[in-house]
Amino acid sequence: MTFASLNLAPEILRAVEEEGYTKPTPIQAQAIPMVLDGRDLMAGAQTGTGKTAAFTLPLLQKLLPYSSTSASPARHPVRALILTPTRELAIQVEESVKTYGKHVPLRSLVVFGGVDIKTQTPHLMRGVEILVATPGRLLDHVEQRTVQLNQVQMLILDEADRMLDMGFLPDLKRILALLPKQRQNLMFSATFSNDIKKLADDFLTNPTLIEVARSNAAAENVTQKIFRVAQDEKHAVLAELLRNENSQAIVFTKTKLTASRLARLLQRDGIAADAIHGDKSQQERIQALDAFKQGKITTLVATDVAARGLDIDQLPMVINYEIPHAPEDYVHRIGRTGRAGALGVAVSLVSPEEEKYLKEIEKLIKRDIPQEEPPRIERSAKPRSERRPSAERETPISRPAKKSSDPWFDRPYEPDASSDASIRHTPRPMSKQKREIPALLGGLLRKD
Ligand code: AMP
Repeated sequence: MTFASLNLAPEILRAVEEEGYTKPTPIQAQAIPMVLDGRDLMAGAQTGTGKTAAFTLPLLQKLLPYSSTSASPARHPVRALILTPTRELAIQVEESVKTYGKHVPLRSLVVFGGVDIKTQTPHLMRGVEILVATPGRLLDHVEQRTVQLNQVQMLILDEADRMLDMGFLPDLKRILALLPKQRQNLMFSATFSNDIKKLADDFLTNPTLIEVARSNAAAENVTQKIFRVAQDEKHAVLAELLRNENSQAIVFTKTKLTASRLARLLQRDGIAADAIHGDKSQQERIQALDAFKQGKITTLVATDVAARGLDIDQLPMVINYEIPHAPEDYVHRIGRTGRAGALGVAVSLVSPEEEKYLKEIEKLIKRDIPQEEPPRIERSAKPRSERRPSAERETPISRPAKKSSDPWFDRPYEPDASSDASIRHTPRPMSKQKREIPALLGGLLRKD
């Protein structure tokens, strides 16, 4: 998908191009058509996904007909209100509005607390179509009659979960009561608690639900690192890492084929591993997951699609055996660990061919992932006959030993040929997407 295919005006496309964006991020690809269509939106998306452009670009497009070169404040009423929990986010969002709207004659302004209100008043009274505000300061302006909200046609709540956490609910309710009933509402939140759901129920009308990444609270508890290794060394490095770390891990591969093969190789290395992916039956997946949860297997090799619904508490480690081509998948993957305040580790094995995907990820998460030396390959690279018996190993290994009597490990190897990585990125027809909304919502509510 390209930005051009999203029916945005040339002025907006030009600004996007000047920013160097070549294609929409997933949240943009999903949200922009919905917003242009006039739908209410409830989006599970966090900073770093491109969510600001996801609501700003269609907002600019929708307000374009109202742009006016008139100096009269009456010709520039507030038509879009963007509420954020913090001044930092408010400033950042308004900068983005200015950037994406630089060729569009619409006015924008940011107002937030902690500074003299008088400095904001003259700007506000000159008239602005797009107002970015923190709730408290907006109400101050309402009280001082320096702003009118009776022509707002679009309301955006950014980081709604943080707004509730910070106790803004009463302020939000007061603001909502001041807005015209007939308006479009967009809500963005990294998490969907019951309180958020209730807020959504109260102020969204028949919303479309979009989810692109889970709570980033998890990611903040995750220590990320990369090992630079050749593709053909990855299996040996992984086996060594799993032995040394002596903890449970989900290992991500891009394809079902690699997941199956890798699980099989790890089993041969004596590591209690199994694979879950789209070609396994529901029963097999449940079995694998239960075995993992009970500690009977220590390593679950999974594709992105298969891992999507997994909710494993206390998972200490995620390993990216292959780097995902869509950077958002990286965020999903590492969000599997470090949940609910626990600490987690995310290790990525990066081959030279995958450097470009790593760059995309670092751009998305806005940080460089530190590189560490991969563990020295001692055992798994050697032929099995040369390996030392387990009693001589320096690192104690507490994982369950492979038992030949255990049918779990003796299942025949059935290679699978197709990749389900492609499924993840194939644009889905709307009807299917809509059908999935209740399931998605259920997942969000359950997990966050
Ligand atoms: P946000 O999630 O809105 O905070 O955006 C995260 C970062 O992604 C910002 O630095 C944006 O400039 C950048 N960004 C947004 N959309 C795109 C895109 N389509 N292509 C590349 N970068 C983008």
